[in-house]
Amino acid sequence: MDLTLTEAQLEFRSYARQFLDKEVVSQRAAWDRAESVDISIVPKLGEIGFFGLTIPEEYGGLGGDYITYCIGMEELGRADSAVRGIVSVSMGLVGKVILSHGTEEQKMRWLPRIADGSVLACFGLTEPDTGSDAGNLKTRASREGDEYVLNGQKMFITNATWADVCLVFARTGGPGPKGVSAFLVPTATPGFETREIKGKLGLRGQATGEIYLTDVRVPASARLGEEGQGFAIAMHSLDKGRVSVGAGCVGIISGCLDTVVDYATQRQQFGRPLASFQLIQDMIADISVELDAARLLVWRAADLIERGEPFGTAASKAKYFASEAAVRAANSAIQIFGGYGYIDEYPVQKYLRDARVMTLYEGTSQIQKLLIGRAETGVSAFL
Ligand SMILES: Cc1cc2nc3c(=O)[nH]c(=O)nc-3n(C[C@H](O)[C@H](O)[C@H](O)COP(=O)(O)OP(=O)(O)OC[C@H]3O[C@@H](n4cnc5c(N)ncnc54)[C@H](O)[C@@H]3O)c2cc1C
Repeated sequence: MDLTLTEAQLEFRSYARQFLDKEVVSQRAAWDRAESVDISIVPKLGEIGFFGLTIPEEYGGLGGDYITYCIGMEELGRADSAVRGIVSVSMGLVGKVILSHGTEEQKMRWLPRIADGSVLACFGLTEPDTGSDAGNLKTRASREGDEYVLNGQKMFITNATWADVCLVFARTGGPGPKGVSAFLVPTATPGFETREIKGKLGLRGQATGEIYLTDVRVPASARLGEEGQGFAIAMHSLDKGRVSVGAGCVGIISGCLDTVVDYATQRQQFGRPLASFQLIQDMIADISVELDAARLLVWRAADLIERGEPFGTAASKAKYFASEAAVRAANSAIQIFGGYGYIDEYPVQKYLRDARVMTLYEGTSQIQKLLIGRAETGVSAFL
Protein backbone atom coordinates (compact mmCIF):
# COMPACT_ATOMS: atom_id res chain seq x y z
CA MET A 1 0.00 0.00 0.00
CA ASP A 2 2.17 2.86 -1.28
CA LEU A 3 -0.58 5.38 -2.01
CA THR A 4 1.37 8.58 -1.91
CA LEU A 5 5.02 7.66 -1.55
CA THR A 6 7.56 9.64 -3.56
CA GLU A 7 10.52 8.04 -5.36
CA ALA A 8 12.82 9.31 -2.60
CA GLN A 9 10.63 7.76 0.12
CA LEU A 10 10.48 4.41 -1.70
CA GLU A 11 14.24 4.46 -2.17
CA PHE A 12 14.79 5.24 1.51
CA ARG A 13 12.50 2.36 2.53
CA SER A 14 14.28 -0.11 0.31
CA TYR A 15 17.71 1.06 1.49
CA ALA A 16 16.63 0.98 5.16
CA ARG A 17 15.19 -2.53 4.81
CA GLN A 18 18.34 -3.89 3.17
CA PHE A 19 20.54 -2.36 5.85
CA LEU A 20 18.34 -3.59 8.72
CA ASP A 21 18.01 -7.11 7.29
CA LYS A 22 21.78 -7.38 7.21
CA GLU A 23 22.70 -5.61 10.46
CA VAL A 24 19.72 -6.15 12.75
CA VAL A 25 17.36 -8.95 11.63
CA SER A 26 20.27 -11.38 11.48
CA GLN A 27 21.16 -10.57 15.12
CA ARG A 28 17.84 -9.86 16.83
CA ALA A 29 17.18 -13.33 18.30
CA ALA A 30 20.69 -13.43 19.79
CA TRP A 31 20.30 -9.90 21.21
CA ASP A 32 16.92 -10.85 22.63
CA ARG A 33 18.38 -13.91 24.38
CA ALA A 34 21.39 -11.93 25.65
CA GLU A 35 19.06 -9.13 26.88
CA SER A 36 21.24 -6.58 25.08
CA VAL A 37 21.70 -5.41 21.55
CA ASP A 38 25.30 -5.01 20.44
CA ILE A 39 25.60 -1.29 21.12
CA SER A 40 27.98 -0.91 18.15
CA ILE A 41 24.79 -0.89 16.05
CA VAL A 42 24.17 2.71 17.26
CA PRO A 43 26.93 4.47 15.24
CA LYS A 44 25.98 2.36 12.21
CA LEU A 45 22.36 3.54 12.52
CA GLY A 46 23.76 7.05 12.84
CA GLU A 47 25.74 6.69 9.63
CA ILE A 48 22.66 5.60 7.69
CA GLY A 49 20.85 8.66 9.07
CA PHE A 50 18.13 7.14 11.30
CA PHE A 51 18.99 9.53 14.15
CA GLY A 52 18.91 12.55 11.84
CA LEU A 53 15.47 12.13 10.26
CA THR A 54 13.54 15.46 10.42
CA ILE A 55 16.45 17.16 12.26
CA PRO A 56 17.45 20.11 10.00
CA GLU A 57 20.76 19.91 8.16
CA GLU A 58 22.09 23.02 9.96
CA TYR A 59 22.04 20.91 13.17
CA GLY A 60 23.66 17.90 11.54
CA GLY A 61 20.45 16.04 10.60
CA LEU A 62 19.08 14.75 7.32
CA GLY A 63 16.07 17.04 7.32
CA GLY A 64 13.24 15.32 5.50
CA ASP A 65 9.52 15.00 6.02
CA TYR A 66 7.45 13.19 8.63
CA ILE A 67 6.22 10.44 6.31
CA THR A 68 9.85 9.51 5.65
CA TYR A 69 10.39 9.55 9.42
CA CYS A 70 7.43 7.14 9.83
CA ILE A 71 8.84 4.88 7.12
CA GLY A 72 12.13 4.79 9.04
CA MET A 73 10.36 3.94 12.33
CA GLU A 74 8.20 1.33 10.55
CA GLU A 75 11.25 -0.39 9.10
CA LEU A 76 12.99 -0.30 12.48
CA GLY A 77 9.88 -1.75 14.18
CA ARG A 78 9.65 -4.48 11.58
CA ALA A 79 13.32 -5.36 12.13
CA ASP A 80 13.54 -5.06 15.93
CA SER A 81 11.45 -2.84 18.22
CA ALA A 82 14.29 -2.81 20.77
CA VAL A 83 16.42 -0.97 18.22
CA ARG A 84 13.54 1.26 17.13
CA GLY A 85 13.10 2.40 20.73
CA ILE A 86 16.74 3.46 21.06
CA VAL A 87 16.32 5.78 18.06
CA SER A 88 12.78 6.94 18.89
CA VAL A 89 13.71 8.01 22.40
CA SER A 90 17.08 9.63 21.67
CA MET A 91 16.14 11.53 18.54
CA GLY A 92 12.33 11.44 18.65
CA LEU A 93 11.54 12.27 22.27
CA VAL A 94 14.63 14.27 23.23
CA GLY A 95 16.22 15.60 20.00
CA LYS A 96 12.96 16.95 18.68
CA VAL A 97 12.14 18.94 21.84
CA ILE A 98 15.63 20.39 21.96
CA LEU A 99 14.87 21.54 18.41
CA SER A 100 11.45 22.99 19.31
CA HIS A 101 12.22 24.42 22.78
CA GLY A 102 16.02 24.67 23.10
CA THR A 103 18.23 27.74 23.03
CA GLU A 104 20.63 28.07 20.11
CA GLU A 105 23.44 27.00 22.45
CA GLN A 106 21.53 23.85 23.53
CA LYS A 107 20.75 23.00 19.91
CA MET A 108 24.39 23.41 18.82
CA ARG A 109 25.66 21.47 21.82
CA TRP A 110 23.40 18.41 21.54
CA LEU A 111 21.67 18.09 18.19
CA PRO A 112 24.58 17.35 15.83
CA ARG A 113 25.77 14.53 18.10
CA ILE A 114 22.27 13.13 18.68
CA ALA A 115 21.71 13.28 14.91
CA ASP A 116 24.84 11.26 14.09
CA GLY A 117 24.32 8.77 16.92
CA SER A 118 27.54 9.70 18.75
CA VAL A 119 25.43 10.83 21.72
CA LEU A 120 22.42 8.89 23.06
CA ALA A 121 19.69 10.67 24.99
CA CYS A 122 17.05 9.39 27.40
CA PHE A 123 13.72 10.85 28.53
CA GLY A 124 13.23 10.93 32.30
CA LEU A 125 9.57 11.50 33.06
CA THR A 126 8.16 8.38 34.78
CA GLU A 127 8.81 7.86 38.50
CA PRO A 128 8.09 4.90 40.77
CA ASP A 129 4.85 6.50 42.06
CA THR A 130 3.82 8.52 39.00
CA GLY A 131 3.39 6.92 35.57
CA SER A 132 0.11 7.91 33.90
CA ASP A 133 -0.15 10.65 36.52
CA ALA A 134 3.17 12.21 35.45
CA GLY A 135 2.00 15.76 36.28
CA ASN A 136 2.35 14.87 39.96
CA LEU A 137 6.00 13.78 39.73
CA LYS A 138 8.12 14.28 42.86
CA THR A 139 11.71 14.79 41.67
CA ARG A 140 12.77 18.27 42.80
CA ALA A 141 15.04 20.87 41.23
CA SER A 142 15.94 23.62 43.69
CA ARG A 143 17.50 26.84 42.48
CA GLU A 144 20.79 27.76 44.18
CA GLY A 145 22.34 30.86 42.59
CA ASP A 146 23.16 30.06 38.98
CA GLU A 147 22.56 26.35 39.48
CA TYR A 148 19.76 23.87 40.03
CA VAL A 149 20.18 20.93 42.42
CA LEU A 150 18.18 17.85 41.42
CA ASN A 151 17.04 15.09 43.78
CA GLY A 152 14.68 12.21 43.02
CA GLN A 153 14.19 8.93 41.20
CA LYS A 154 13.09 7.92 37.71
CA MET A 155 11.66 4.55 36.66
CA PHE A 156 11.53 2.50 33.43
CA ILE A 157 13.76 4.88 31.47
CA THR A 158 14.72 3.64 27.99
CA ASN A 159 18.46 4.05 27.21
CA ALA A 160 19.09 5.05 30.86
CA THR A 161 22.32 3.11 31.28
CA TRP A 162 23.61 3.95 27.79
CA ALA A 163 22.67 7.61 27.55
CA ASP A 164 25.06 10.57 27.58
CA VAL A 165 22.33 13.07 28.37
CA CYS A 166 18.97 12.76 30.13
CA LEU A 167 16.03 15.10 29.73
CA VAL A 168 14.94 15.16 33.37
CA PHE A 169 11.53 16.50 34.38
CA ALA A 170 11.62 17.90 37.91
CA ARG A 171 9.50 20.07 40.15
CA THR A 172 10.64 23.69 40.53
CA GLY A 173 7.30 25.06 41.71
CA GLY A 174 4.09 24.04 43.48
CA PRO A 175 2.05 20.84 43.02
CA GLY A 176 0.64 19.65 39.71
CA PRO A 177 1.77 19.96 36.08
CA LYS A 178 2.43 23.72 36.22
CA GLY A 179 5.20 23.24 38.81
CA VAL A 180 7.33 21.05 36.51
CA SER A 181 10.45 22.15 34.57
CA ALA A 182 12.75 20.29 32.16
CA PHE A 183 16.57 19.96 32.35
CA LEU A 184 19.22 18.57 30.02
CA VAL A 185 21.45 16.68 32.44
CA PRO A 186 24.72 15.08 31.25
CA THR A 187 24.70 11.58 32.74
CA ALA A 188 28.35 11.93 33.82
CA THR A 189 27.33 14.63 36.33
CA PRO A 190 28.22 13.59 39.91
CA GLY A 191 25.16 12.21 41.74
CA PHE A 192 23.55 10.78 38.56
CA GLU A 193 23.34 6.98 39.03
CA THR A 194 21.53 4.30 37.03
CA ARG A 195 20.49 0.69 37.58
CA GLU A 196 19.45 -1.55 34.71
CA ILE A 197 16.07 -3.33 34.93
CA LYS A 198 16.39 -6.93 33.72
CA GLY A 199 13.77 -9.59 33.03
CA LYS A 200 11.45 -7.63 30.74
CA LEU A 201 8.81 -9.53 28.74
CA GLY A 202 9.82 -7.81 25.51
CA LEU A 203 12.21 -5.16 24.20
CA ARG A 204 14.80 -7.30 25.92
CA GLY A 205 17.68 -5.99 23.85
CA GLN A 206 17.01 -2.46 24.97
CA ALA A 207 18.49 -0.95 28.14
CA THR A 208 15.69 0.10 30.48
CA GLY A 209 16.73 1.51 33.80
CA GLU A 210 16.08 3.36 37.00
CA ILE A 211 17.77 6.70 37.57
CA TYR A 212 18.77 8.02 40.99
CA LEU A 213 19.48 11.74 41.30
CA THR A 214 21.34 12.77 44.46
CA ASP A 215 22.32 16.44 44.68
CA VAL A 216 22.90 16.58 40.93
CA ARG A 217 24.07 20.13 40.12
CA VAL A 218 23.46 21.65 36.70
CA PRO A 219 23.88 25.25 35.54
CA ALA A 220 20.68 27.24 34.99
CA SER A 221 21.53 27.13 31.27
CA ALA A 222 20.69 23.38 31.34
CA ARG A 223 16.99 24.20 31.78
CA LEU A 224 14.99 23.52 28.62
CA GLY A 225 12.29 26.13 28.20
CA GLU A 226 10.98 28.32 31.00
CA GLU A 227 10.36 27.32 34.61
CA GLY A 228 6.94 25.66 34.80
CA GLN A 229 6.93 24.75 31.10
CA GLY A 230 8.30 21.24 31.66
CA PHE A 231 5.04 19.31 31.63
CA ALA A 232 3.87 21.02 28.45
CA ILE A 233 7.25 20.15 26.88
CA ALA A 234 6.85 16.51 27.95
CA MET A 235 3.35 16.32 26.45
CA HIS A 236 4.49 18.01 23.22
CA SER A 237 7.28 15.46 22.99
CA LEU A 238 4.98 12.49 23.72
CA ASP A 239 2.41 13.62 21.13
CA LYS A 240 5.08 13.27 18.45
CA GLY A 241 6.48 10.17 20.14
CA ARG A 242 3.10 8.47 19.78
CA VAL A 243 3.35 8.80 16.01
CA SER A 244 6.72 7.10 16.19
CA VAL A 245 5.39 4.28 18.42
CA GLY A 246 2.43 3.90 16.03
CA ALA A 247 4.81 3.64 13.06
CA GLY A 248 6.90 1.05 14.91
CA CYS A 249 3.71 -0.96 15.52
CA VAL A 250 2.89 -0.78 11.80
CA GLY A 251 6.32 -2.35 11.29
CA ILE A 252 5.45 -5.17 13.70
CA ILE A 253 2.16 -5.86 11.88
CA SER A 254 3.88 -5.74 8.50
CA GLY A 255 6.55 -8.16 9.75
CA CYS A 256 3.83 -10.49 11.07
CA LEU A 257 1.95 -10.42 7.76
CA ASP A 258 4.97 -11.26 5.60
CA THR A 259 6.14 -13.95 8.02
CA VAL A 260 2.75 -15.71 8.23
CA VAL A 261 2.12 -15.56 4.48
CA ASP A 262 5.50 -17.13 3.88
CA TYR A 263 4.90 -19.84 6.48
CA ALA A 264 1.27 -20.56 5.61
CA THR A 265 2.02 -21.00 1.93
CA GLN A 266 4.80 -23.51 2.68
CA ARG A 267 3.66 -25.48 5.74
CA GLN A 268 1.42 -28.43 4.79
CA GLN A 269 -1.20 -30.14 6.95
CA PHE A 270 -3.81 -32.62 5.68
CA GLY A 271 -1.86 -32.64 2.40
CA ARG A 272 -2.51 -28.95 1.71
CA PRO A 273 -0.78 -25.66 2.55
CA LEU A 274 -2.09 -23.94 5.68
CA ALA A 275 -2.91 -20.95 3.45
CA SER A 276 -5.65 -23.00 1.77
CA PHE A 277 -7.67 -23.28 5.01
CA GLN A 278 -10.37 -20.63 5.32
CA LEU A 279 -9.86 -20.22 9.06
CA ILE A 280 -6.18 -19.42 8.42
CA GLN A 281 -7.11 -16.90 5.70
CA ASP A 282 -9.55 -15.33 8.13
CA MET A 283 -6.67 -14.46 10.48
CA ILE A 284 -4.41 -13.32 7.62
CA ALA A 285 -7.16 -11.07 6.25
CA ASP A 286 -7.61 -9.41 9.65
CA ILE A 287 -3.86 -8.76 9.92
CA SER A 288 -3.82 -7.31 6.40
CA VAL A 289 -6.77 -4.95 6.97
CA GLU A 290 -5.43 -3.77 10.35
CA LEU A 291 -2.03 -3.14 8.77
CA ASP A 292 -3.57 -0.77 6.23
CA ALA A 293 -5.78 0.94 8.82
CA ALA A 294 -2.89 1.42 11.27
CA ARG A 295 -0.56 2.77 8.60
CA LEU A 296 -3.18 5.22 7.33
CA LEU A 297 -3.85 6.52 10.86
CA VAL A 298 -0.10 6.96 11.44
CA TRP A 299 0.44 8.70 8.12
CA ARG A 300 -2.52 10.99 8.72
CA ALA A 301 -0.97 12.15 12.01
CA ALA A 302 2.42 12.55 10.26
CA ASP A 303 0.80 14.57 7.49
CA LEU A 304 -0.84 16.91 10.05
CA ILE A 305 2.57 17.47 11.70
CA GLU A 306 4.09 18.14 8.29
CA ARG A 307 1.41 20.75 7.55
CA GLY A 308 1.80 22.41 10.96
CA GLU A 309 -1.77 21.56 12.02
CA PRO A 310 -2.97 20.25 15.40
CA PHE A 311 -2.16 16.54 15.49
CA GLY A 312 -2.44 15.44 19.15
CA THR A 313 -5.74 13.57 18.89
CA ALA A 314 -4.74 12.00 15.55
CA ALA A 315 -1.50 10.84 17.22
CA SER A 316 -3.45 9.29 20.12
CA LYS A 317 -5.78 7.48 17.71
CA ALA A 318 -2.84 6.21 15.64
CA LYS A 319 -0.92 5.01 18.70
CA TYR A 320 -3.97 3.42 20.34
CA PHE A 321 -5.13 1.56 17.24
CA ALA A 322 -1.71 0.54 15.93
CA SER A 323 -0.47 -0.77 19.30
CA GLU A 324 -3.59 -2.83 20.02
CA ALA A 325 -3.60 -4.08 16.39
CA ALA A 326 0.08 -5.08 16.70
CA VAL A 327 -0.75 -7.23 19.73
CA ARG A 328 -3.67 -8.84 17.84
CA ALA A 329 -1.54 -9.42 14.72
CA ALA A 330 1.34 -11.00 16.63
CA ASN A 331 -1.04 -13.18 18.63
CA SER A 332 -2.70 -14.43 15.42
CA ALA A 333 0.72 -14.95 13.87
CA ILE A 334 1.63 -17.33 16.69
CA GLN A 335 -1.68 -19.16 16.16
CA ILE A 336 -0.90 -19.59 12.47
CA PHE A 337 2.58 -20.90 13.26
CA GLY A 338 1.20 -23.40 15.78
CA GLY A 339 3.84 -24.79 18.14
CA TYR A 340 6.63 -23.32 16.02
CA GLY A 341 5.31 -19.88 16.84
CA TYR A 342 6.04 -20.45 20.50
CA ILE A 343 9.79 -20.87 20.15
CA ASP A 344 12.34 -18.24 19.25
CA GLU A 345 13.50 -19.88 16.04
CA TYR A 346 10.80 -17.76 14.40
CA PRO A 347 10.23 -14.04 15.07
CA VAL A 348 6.49 -14.11 15.85
CA GLN A 349 6.84 -14.73 19.61
CA LYS A 350 9.24 -11.77 19.80
CA TYR A 351 6.81 -9.63 17.85
CA LEU A 352 4.14 -10.42 20.47
CA ARG A 353 6.43 -9.75 23.45
CA ASP A 354 7.64 -6.48 21.93
CA ALA A 355 4.16 -5.36 20.85
CA ARG A 356 2.79 -5.82 24.35
CA VAL A 357 4.59 -2.80 25.80
CA MET A 358 3.36 -0.52 23.03
CA THR A 359 -0.08 -0.41 24.67
CA LEU A 360 1.61 0.68 27.91
CA TYR A 361 4.33 3.24 27.33
CA GLU A 362 4.08 6.80 26.01
CA GLY A 363 0.56 6.79 27.45
CA THR A 364 -1.37 3.55 28.00
CA SER A 365 -4.34 2.63 25.79
CA GLN A 366 -6.64 3.83 28.57
CA ILE A 367 -4.89 7.22 28.63
CA GLN A 368 -5.17 7.50 24.81
CA LYS A 369 -8.91 6.82 25.08
CA LEU A 370 -9.28 9.53 27.73
CA LEU A 371 -7.46 11.99 25.43
CA ILE A 372 -9.66 11.01 22.47
CA GLY A 373 -12.78 11.12 24.67
CA ARG A 374 -11.83 14.60 25.92
CA ALA A 375 -11.33 15.82 22.35
CA GLU A 376 -14.72 14.41 21.29
CA THR A 377 -16.78 15.57 24.27
CA GLY A 378 -14.93 18.63 25.54
CA VAL A 379 -15.10 17.02 28.99
CA SER A 380 -11.90 15.93 30.75
CA ALA A 381 -11.96 12.66 32.64
CA PHE A 382 -8.60 13.58 34.22
CA LEU A 383 -8.80 15.20 37.63
C1 LIG B 1 9.92 -0.98 28.57
C2 LIG B 1 9.47 0.37 29.07
C3 LIG B 1 10.13 1.51 28.64
C4 LIG B 1 9.74 2.77 29.11
N1 LIG B 1 10.45 3.88 28.74
C5 LIG B 1 10.18 5.08 29.35
C6 LIG B 1 11.01 6.23 29.10
O1 LIG B 1 11.96 6.18 28.31
N2 LIG B 1 10.75 7.37 29.79
C7 LIG B 1 9.71 7.48 30.67
O2 LIG B 1 9.54 8.54 31.25
N3 LIG B 1 8.90 6.42 30.90
C8 LIG B 1 9.12 5.23 30.28
N4 LIG B 1 8.32 4.12 30.53
C9 LIG B 1 7.23 4.26 31.49
C10 LIG B 1 5.86 4.21 30.86
O3 LIG B 1 5.62 5.37 30.13
C11 LIG B 1 4.85 3.97 32.00
O4 LIG B 1 5.02 2.62 32.42
C12 LIG B 1 3.42 4.24 31.58
O5 LIG B 1 3.23 5.62 31.40
C13 LIG B 1 2.39 3.74 32.59
O6 LIG B 1 2.71 4.17 33.89
P1 LIG B 1 2.76 3.09 35.09
O7 LIG B 1 3.58 1.95 34.63
O8 LIG B 1 3.16 3.79 36.31
O9 LIG B 1 1.27 2.57 35.20
P2 LIG B 1 0.06 3.29 35.98
O10 LIG B 1 0.00 4.73 35.60
O11 LIG B 1 0.14 2.95 37.42
O12 LIG B 1 -1.19 2.56 35.32
C14 LIG B 1 -1.61 1.24 35.71
C15 LIG B 1 -2.93 0.94 35.00
O13 LIG B 1 -3.93 1.89 35.39
C16 LIG B 1 -4.48 2.52 34.25
N5 LIG B 1 -4.81 3.93 34.59
C17 LIG B 1 -4.02 4.87 35.15
N6 LIG B 1 -4.69 6.03 35.26
C18 LIG B 1 -5.92 5.83 34.73
C19 LIG B 1 -7.09 6.64 34.52
N7 LIG B 1 -7.10 7.93 34.86
N8 LIG B 1 -8.18 6.07 33.95
C20 LIG B 1 -8.16 4.75 33.58
N9 LIG B 1 -7.11 3.94 33.75
C21 LIG B 1 -6.00 4.47 34.30
C22 LIG B 1 -3.39 2.43 33.18
O14 LIG B 1 -3.93 2.55 31.87
C23 LIG B 1 -2.83 1.05 33.47
O15 LIG B 1 -3.65 0.08 32.87
C24 LIG B 1 8.65 2.87 30.02
C25 LIG B 1 7.98 1.72 30.41
C26 LIG B 1 8.38 0.48 29.97
C27 LIG B 1 7.64 -0.74 30.46
